[in-house]
Amino acid sequence: MKITIVAGARPNFIKIAPIIRAIENKRKIVPTLSYRLVHTGQHYDKNLSDTFFTELNIPKPDVNLEVKSGSQAEQTAAIMVAFEKELLQNPCDLVLVVGDVNSTMACAITAKKLHIKVTHVEAGIRSGDMTMPEEINRIVTDSITDYFFTTSVTANDNLIKYGADARNIHFVGNVMIDTLYQNLDRISAPDFWEDFNLEKDHYMVLTLHRPANVDEENSLIELLRGIDEMAGNRKIIFPIHPRTKAILGEKKLDLKNIFLVAPQGYLHFMFLIKNCFAVITDSGGISEETTVLGIPCFTMRNNTERPETETIGTNTLVGTSIENLKKIFERFLINGPKKAGIPELWDGKASERIIDILLQK
Ligand code: UDP
Repeated sequence: MKITIVAGARPNFIKIAPIIRAIENKRKIVPTLSYRLVHTGQHYDKNLSDTFFTELNIPKPDVNLEVKSGSQAEQTAAIMVAFEKELLQNPCDLVLVVGDVNSTMACAITAKKLHIKVTHVEAGIRSGDMTMPEEINRIVTDSITDYFFTTSVTANDNLIKYGADARNIHFVGNVMIDTLYQNLDRISAPDFWEDFNLEKDHYMVLTLHRPANVDEENSLIELLRGIDEMAGNRKIIFPIHPRTKAILGEKKLDLKNIFLVAPQGYLHFMFLIKNCFAVITDSGGISEETTVLGIPCFTMRNNTERPETETIGTNTLVGTSIENLKKIFERFLINGPKKAGIPELWDGKASERIIDILLQK
């Protein structure tokens, strides 16, 4: 079986690493199993791409389509044009896509139109929010996927509701968490740990990159000032996403507690998360990682496609207003963290399950 694996953006790299590792292990007993790795070039900043390949021991991609940025339509179209050529030159039995970025959807459509089977890892999750480009990517990808691999029973139910064939839906767990477990003993403090005098459980981590929070400059600044004030005298480490940085430009913000740093590599970032007091974020993946690590997470969104991080895990949805965040955070300071657990099958073995199931198809 020849599998073409697609990755385009930071969260994709974290998800394909354990899948490739599972394939490499399986190949020792199934030599007919092979893969080709395609990087679409959607994320090309060193901090969002190369660092993850090095740290997570992901092999150098067989090809980089180098699509880079553009509008939603430009980027999707550029990926499709380049990926069609790639598939015609290098035929395969199966295209495997992960997550919900433009590369996921664009490559799924391209493969399906060439009559190649599509596998979607992290299928079936839904926020119900059609203003998120990711939600459209999820729905379109799942509508043409042949084999679905899910992180929760809720995702299975969503797929059934959309008409997918139950025999092709497999609840296997979470590949993001495979990566977390595979690297926990390799995480390490970033250089600024000492410069900033950070101490375990005494600082917070902030990440913001969703259009709803960062695209309007004045409300982003107001949000940051509010969080800065709310922190009391706790330091807040803010690895700033290039999208957010571009909005803020060179503006001086006069923040007392928030320390802006470059986007972190995986091993430094997970060290910061594992040792912090709490996280404020609008990321989906981070709410899964904090759930497994038992770190309180406040998500600045009105909805989540990962409800189990809230019903079972440590995540609390706080909406996008600073007033609401302050209210919920104050309550947390008084009442302490909520009781939380780890969702079923988030045990570090999802990738092995995926490869075993694919080999039976
Ligand atoms: N991440 C990282 N360094 C950072 C910020 C994030 O390594 O500075 C990792 C982290 O593991 C997170 C993942 O990148 O789960 C995806 O983050 P992002 O917020 O970009 O994507 P989302 O999960 O919202 O799709």
